Amino acid sequence: RIRHGQPDRWVRTTCPYCGTGCELDLGLTDGRITESRPVLDSVVSRGHLCVKGRYAFGFQEAEDRVTRPMVRRNGAWEEVSWDEALDAAAVALRQAVMNAGPGGVGVLASSRATNEENYLTQKFARLALGTHNVDCCARVCHAPSATGLGQVLGTGAATNSFADIERAAMLLVVGANATENHPIVGARIRQRARAGVPLVVIDPRRTELAAEATVHLALRPGTNLPLFQALARVILDEGLADLAFIQSRTEGLEAFVTSLQAWTPERAAAACGVAAEDIRRAARLYATSKPAMCLHGLGVTEHIQGTDGVMALAHLALLTGNLGLPGAGVNPLRGQNNVQGSAQMGCEPTRLTGYRPLARALADHLPVWGAALPEAPGLTAMGMLDAAGEGRLRALLVLGYDVLLSHADARTTAENLHGLEALVVVDLFMTETARAFGTVFLPAASPFEKEGTFMNGERRVQRVRQALPPKGDSRSDREILCALAERLGAGGPFRFPDAESVWNEIRQVWPDVQGITYARLEREGGIQWPCPDESHPGTAVLHAEGFPGGGRAAFRLLDYTPSAQVATDTHPWLLNTGRSLFHFNAATMTGRTRNGHLRPDNGLELHPADAASLGVVDGEAVTVTSRHGSFTLLAHVTDRVRPGEPFATFHSVPAFVNQATGPGRDRHTGTPEYKVTAVALRKA
Ligand code: SF4
Repeated sequence: RIRHGQPDRWVRTTCPYCGTGCELDLGLTDGRITESRPVLDSVVSRGHLCVKGRYAFGFQEAEDRVTRPMVRRNGAWEEVSWDEALDAAAVALRQAVMNAGPGGVGVLASSRATNEENYLTQKFARLALGTHNVDCCARVCHAPSATGLGQVLGTGAATNSFADIERAAMLLVVGANATENHPIVGARIRQRARAGVPLVVIDPRRTELAAEATVHLALRPGTNLPLFQALARVILDEGLADLAFIQSRTEGLEAFVTSLQAWTPERAAAACGVAAEDIRRAARLYATSKPAMCLHGLGVTEHIQGTDGVMALAHLALLTGNLGLPGAGVNPLRGQNNVQGSAQMGCEPTRLTGYRPLARALADHLPVWGAALPEAPGLTAMGMLDAAGEGRLRALLVLGYDVLLSHADARTTAENLHGLEALVVVDLFMTETARAFGTVFLPAASPFEKEGTFMNGERRVQRVRQALPPKGDSRSDREILCALAERLGAGGPFRFPDAESVWNEIRQVWPDVQGITYARLEREGGIQWPCPDESHPGTAVLHAEGFPGGGRAAFRLLDYTPSAQVATDTHPWLLNTGRSLFHFNAATMTGRTRNGHLRPDNGLELHPADAASLGVVDGEAVTVTSRHGSFTLLAHVTDRVRPGEPFATFHSVPAFVNQATGPGRDRHTGTPEYKVTAVALRKA
């Protein structure tokens, strides 16, 4: 429905979709959101929004939104009162702890929820349930970025700011389709490339940015590490390294140089399917155009060597002294609006608030929380699902996270979910996970119906403002978690009158955000951490002075492990997966908005040669089958992809790609290998 004329009022808030963190004004007319418009003075989005922020707000009032609590009885969902639903959830969680110990329950947090809600989620797991079994959707996207950057640089977050795109003398974009997935960032990169700034794109597909690139390295899926290592070797062999930086600010170079001996450009070229001379050109551009800024996406992280790939990119920045400078750095383009925040808040089985290891952060938490923490380390999201399949995990509380659609190898995910005795779901919609396995459903408030903050991909904390009351009987995650804690006899540390009081506790336990107050956010707009006191302006560039934990960054030794997903006679294509401009992830939100009309369906990008060999024309259905399962999508014939490398978006049910993706996981973080699956194709 399109209205003409001015809305009654406007509410400024932060976009609920990607990690760019654009600010938008929601227009309200007669108690409904009727418009979303860009905010001109937003430091992040500077008067722009993409098609998601601009038009995809209608999910808030979607007819199928669940707004009453429900309990499943005799196989059918029944609407019940909040008291009944909360009692049922608390009994199920307590029962699981009694039967299997605190390790028998787990909590999955949402990277779509606010910082305050995520903080309460992990506090709930640790204090109310007594377990570190808490994780978030970062596990299925950028956990390798946090771990990899943490290993090399000491801090697992973007080193620089989006504004540095305009300061960079060269841009290296790796495994990131920014014009579709982070469109406001992507547009800035494209503008710089059109202004003559060298752009190197590493991506199997000819994305919009790849088409603008000075050098496009279209590597074979799964071969990131050989390519990154060869880039490092060229920089060293050709005398392009910043020796003064290396000497003063790093350690471990000697062994690292030795480890690169195998990766000549020629050998890497053979492994990756690119030209050796293009590897040299890319390395020279990166090393000789200072400052050079690296931005990477899930094309780096969602591989069995995702963390190793991130470390290898960080090495390139160390070799060339591209750290601690405006216009430089290593910058993961975070996927979900608050995926940085959910991890920083401590929704991680081995880390507390501030993404600090348990031992290091305890001293800050104990005086505030007033309780000892469980000793046994927790399980990751993948570990929890595995444990459910083995009967070790009995109950799971899942907030804003459609596990069945999101995790790779859906058949195994479903088998594992079957092992649960109770699954409590907190969400806006009847997710596929809830539909198949849920036992209690607690309806959640949408991002437009609550107060709080999000943290974008450049570490900026920004306000989320309530435009409407929660729809129906839905409640914010804060209210739900605090009510559950009361029922579990742990209510004391969960009595917060509002989101701001939660944020103020976060400031107490995490020194890096002590200087960020709601009053400052209102006055000044978003602020980037570290911000240790209220007179501090925030930090746009990390590592200007030194690196945490001893002051030096560390080169790590990385061995290449080829993916088990290789083309064979029976499965001769390598499937890649990702998003499109119009939709977000499983389209749970965007699919219920006008964006559904702009691009209603998923698609399978198929090279014309592959389409011809299958006898398929544009728009015809193709069945994709791997060793793990299959799905069917409509073909989109395009030379954006190479022969033998189809690409599927994952925006619709029941044709979700994780029916075919495999069990491969990053060896450090367990992040699934979404980006390469050997498949067979046939005309459906
Ligand atoms: Fe929202 Fe991301 Fe689009 Fe900005 S770029 S409007 S944050 S989806």
